[in-house]
Amino acid sequence: MAYIEGHARDQALLLPASVEDYVSADNAVRFIDAFVEDLDLGEAGFLRTRPKATGRPGYSPRDMLKLYLYGYLNRVRSSRRLETEATRNLELIWLLRGLRPDFKTIADFRRDNRSAFKAVFRAFMVLCRKLDLFGRELLAVDGTRLKAVNSRTRNFTKARLDKYVKSADERLEKYLAQLDDADRGEEAGTTRRSEALAAKIARVREQRQVSEAMLEQLKASGESQISLTDPDARAMAAHPKVGVGYNAQVAVDAKHKLIVEQHVTNAGSDLGFLAETAGAAKDLLGVDRIDVVADMGYYMGEDIAACERAGITPYVARPQRGTAVGDGRFPKERFRYDEAADCYHCPGNQRLDTRYRWLQGGHIIVQYSNPRACGGCELKAQCARGSFRRITRWEGEAVLDRMATRLAVRPEILNIRRETVEHPFGSIKQWMNQGAFLMRGLDKVRGEFSLTALTYNLRRAINLVGVQGLIRAVQA
Ligand code: SF4
Repeated sequence: MAYIEGHARDQALLLPASVEDYVSADNAVRFIDAFVEDLDLGEAGFLRTRPKATGRPGYSPRDMLKLYLYGYLNRVRSSRRLETEATRNLELIWLLRGLRPDFKTIADFRRDNRSAFKAVFRAFMVLCRKLDLFGRELLAVDGTRLKAVNSRTRNFTKARLDKYVKSADERLEKYLAQLDDADRGEEAGTTRRSEALAAKIARVREQRQVSEAMLEQLKASGESQISLTDPDARAMAAHPKVGVGYNAQVAVDAKHKLIVEQHVTNAGSDLGFLAETAGAAKDLLGVDRIDVVADMGYYMGEDIAACERAGITPYVARPQRGTAVGDGRFPKERFRYDEAADCYHCPGNQRLDTRYRWLQGGHIIVQYSNPRACGGCELKAQCARGSFRRITRWEGEAVLDRMATRLAVRPEILNIRRETVEHPFGSIKQWMNQGAFLMRGLDKVRGEFSLTALTYNLRRAINLVGVQGLIRAVQA
């Protein structure tokens, strides 16, 4: 048996007569073309949507947007690679009708129109809604950390700078003492050694000055760290693999795992982003009520209360925090709150009443205890660290109790959360290879992530309804 052979390179071939013949009916470029042609780019915020009356004609923003959508969909994000692909890739040649913008024009378009990409993401989301691709019943909110164009060595926290200044002082003291010794010495080679030490001292002093200047800068700005390459990027302390990066928040509809809302921040934690992210998604889905599930990184009383006020029913597992948990003593969940009597019932069947009240962070905190009962309790070793157990309660904590009751009835919702959010994050980082930003600055990475989330949704929608189904929806 022989292998399948290709044709001879010098053989004359009857190739298809037009580029159109190379692009099948179900090729994604046909949808990109129809979708972008249908957009109101001026309303979306794109620049130069009308050609200039004079001067050399520029490229249409429609063609440039098509190029980027194709690139992000096919893991080609760099402007230089897009320039190359536009000259040799038949799908792109079809999409751009043979246009060949240079890499600078391509890069400038993404930079200048970074704020408009979110409107394109939302326009596609509206199309998905028209196709009934959203369940509009349950959202999963989560955040993922994506690398910034800033290495760990170019990021400085106050602690790191303080440590450096201290170590510089120690080294300076050591070098100066060595220099004194060398100056006193009379043996041959002393001059050369003195010169080397003086050079070292100058270098350390210079680096110390730079660190001091950065510390002053931190003090003046009130920030906790400085990133030299991308000033907006932050060290993601809890995510060592990412190092310095950004936090992309998404709300994913559970029906087909499509991203409904997304935004990027440089906050290291997810705390406080639940109501904001789920609220925007609920408005976009046009529903009066919706359920939202998130991991314990979102467990924050005020945020949970804000969800309830906005018509969002939250499901967030309670994190096991506090000294009692750390010491292996009874966690707070073992104490049952009695709303009617405003007291707690402890594992020893005793009643803990209000003892103190104070204001903390604008909220009233109430402490409950029963020192007399604890004094003679057999469970004390498992429960109290001091002479009696104290339980504190935020005045609005009823919202957390209601959520705990809901979760007890519907525990499987936490597994649905994992399956729902892991799909987009896994696809974006692994399959789409977009776990790191190419641009610098919060505004620019927000634009970049809008393209990433849009093309993730586009890939999902093509799998669900096909290219022709999407084109029909655009034209309907
Ligand atoms: S130590 Fe106090 S709070 Fe704890 S179980 Fe005993 S009586 Fe209840």
